[in-house]
Amino acid sequence: MNLPLNYLIGGLGLLALQGCDVAKEQQSQKPNVIYIFPDQFRNQALEFWGDEGYRDQVNFKPDPVRTPRLNSFADESVVLTAAQSNCPLSSPHRGMLFTGMYANKSGVPLNCNSSRPISSLREDAECMSDVYSNAGYDCAYFGKLHLDFPTPNDPQRPGQYVEDRVPAWDAYTPPERRHGFNYWYSYGTFDEHKNPRYWDTDGFRHDPREWSPQHEADKVVAYLRNEGNVRDASKPFFMMVAMNPPHSPYRSLDDCMEEDFVLYKDIPLDSLLIRPNADATMNKAQCAPYYFASITGVDRAFGQILDALQELGLDKNTIVVFSSDHGETMTSQRSDDPKNSPYSESMNVPFLVRYPGQLTPRVDDLMISTPDVMPTLLGLSGLGESIPDEVQGYNYAPVFFDAEAEIDRPQGAIYLQNVNGDKDENGMIQSYFPVSRGIKTHRYTMALYIDRNTKQLKRSLLFDDLNDPYQLNNLPLDENKEIVAELCALMGQELSRIEDPWATERILENQYGLVYSAD
Ligand code: CA
Repeated sequence: MNLPLNYLIGGLGLLALQGCDVAKEQQSQKPNVIYIFPDQFRNQALEFWGDEGYRDQVNFKPDPVRTPRLNSFADESVVLTAAQSNCPLSSPHRGMLFTGMYANKSGVPLNCNSSRPISSLREDAECMSDVYSNAGYDCAYFGKLHLDFPTPNDPQRPGQYVEDRVPAWDAYTPPERRHGFNYWYSYGTFDEHKNPRYWDTDGFRHDPREWSPQHEADKVVAYLRNEGNVRDASKPFFMMVAMNPPHSPYRSLDDCMEEDFVLYKDIPLDSLLIRPNADATMNKAQCAPYYFASITGVDRAFGQILDALQELGLDKNTIVVFSSDHGETMTSQRSDDPKNSPYSESMNVPFLVRYPGQLTPRVDDLMISTPDVMPTLLGLSGLGESIPDEVQGYNYAPVFFDAEAEIDRPQGAIYLQNVNGDKDENGMIQSYFPVSRGIKTHRYTMALYIDRNTKQLKRSLLFDDLNDPYQLNNLPLDENKEIVAELCALMGQELSRIEDPWATERILENQYGLVYSAD
């Protein structure tokens, strides 16, 4: 007899239930999770911030950029206006994201390269992926990792680094350092966007000669379709997708797709760089059309992943998060440094969460910090009880489920900047120097910079972000003593709580209102 396919599948499901494998049944109800975080994607580079329902939620004009897929994704998501990257630099951000701990605890205070043995993801930390793995998830990592101290462990060239540059930046992550990820398609850091390379689960190298976000989206779709039986379809999956663009370089069609570049190439630079704090006469301004083209290309690659989820019927039970490790100044503040600063273009990142049927789409000003992401994601996944004790971030899942949730919302987000400390005779970095600490609140941004020798204040930034959203007017500390004291009190409290070096070394203590708790 010929039975319809759905009858057969339904019958099999019934048999499984009769097998009374209750644990397995519960497991299959856990949501899948996809965390997508392209590199250097600023919150301002989302087209929908200019649309009705969004534009009155922010006090900036969005970049003139096309992000059609993210626009419709936003309509289905909880969208945060004020997500902050506390240490807006690749490796420190990723360390905090993976561990839920600030940069002084994650093991990653500086960008990872082979001259910095003191900056490498702690092997003993229980990372987000470890928790998901222990909860019965299949865990998959795609793209840029930039979290390991590179060692001479090239699988194809034993005893050598994966690149010949000194110091080496790119790295191979062996299985014992993958923190629960049982599917791997990744590299350390490498910036040839149309000539990327990846090491897979078994350490084989792939050089696909394709624009990397496009290639990674195809790999993700193949994983979702379970081509080659790469995952256990009876398990939920946790996936991180770390696209490198819109990371620099942005100089030529080697960096982005021509179909995206044509959208921007004929627009005058001062019509692309519309922020009043931008300078279209800087050399870097030439990068703007390539940056925005990269954004549009990432939007399309993201859309491909969403399409596959829908085709496969996985969209309803999958939490999808779109964010970034930090932003890009793109000539704002006349800075050549795209990141690493407390300016809003650097610290404010996209944060959109879609969980159909569970989250009601809306815009929220929750000021989530990087270490809050892990506990919040675990909370959204029903794993709030499994958040490791060491985690310093907060679980804000209740705010996502209910805007009125009775929970203390963050009053601010800490800003961190570290630089190289002492070197040994071989030039290896032995310590880091916490050159700046600051705080971002809904109203203000403040950052204090100290002198390396005296550890006294060398420079300060203070902006009234409400009245000066483009941070054009640096307010003198001594003319704003009350505001500074309030901000310093909040900053001292937070730095004490996270046991930051400024608190343990009592840097600037009792100056400007900075007080640390007794330990
Ligand atoms: Ca980065």
